[in-house]
Amino acid sequence: MKVLKIDHLGIAVNSIDDGKKFWSDILGLDFKGAETVAEQKVTTAFFPVSESEVELLESTSPDGPVAKYIEKKGTGIQHVAFRVEDIDAALAELKEKGIKLIDQEPRIGAGGARIAFLHPKATGGVLVELCERE
Ligand code: ZN
Repeated sequence: MKVLKIDHLGIAVNSIDDGKKFWSDILGLDFKGAETVAEQKVTTAFFPVSESEVELLESTSPDGPVAKYIEKKGTGIQHVAFRVEDIDAALAELKEKGIKLIDQEPRIGAGGARIAFLHPKATGGVLVELCERE
């Protein structure tokens, strides 16, 4: 498997508008726009930082995965996303190595990227996302 770079850091927030006050107004990162991924009950907002991005995640529903995460662990870094060259090959390799996956197959995430999550139990407690973009 070829990991190309850290694609983004996913940060769970109660409100993207409030989050922007720090990430954009204070740190000076550009706000690239928000997008709702209905299937995941989440609105995401991207702030590019050179080759990587900060992704703020705001739940659109109290029973969404991000809302549940905040309930359990509070706001903060929720996942680390690595850009891979070939996500199908990466998932096949991880399965072969017995790594527990949340997504057996890639699905479409924000920005049209193909993404898949690895189970935190397989990574020492970090929710890892793999993503492949055109
Ligand atoms: Zn992400």
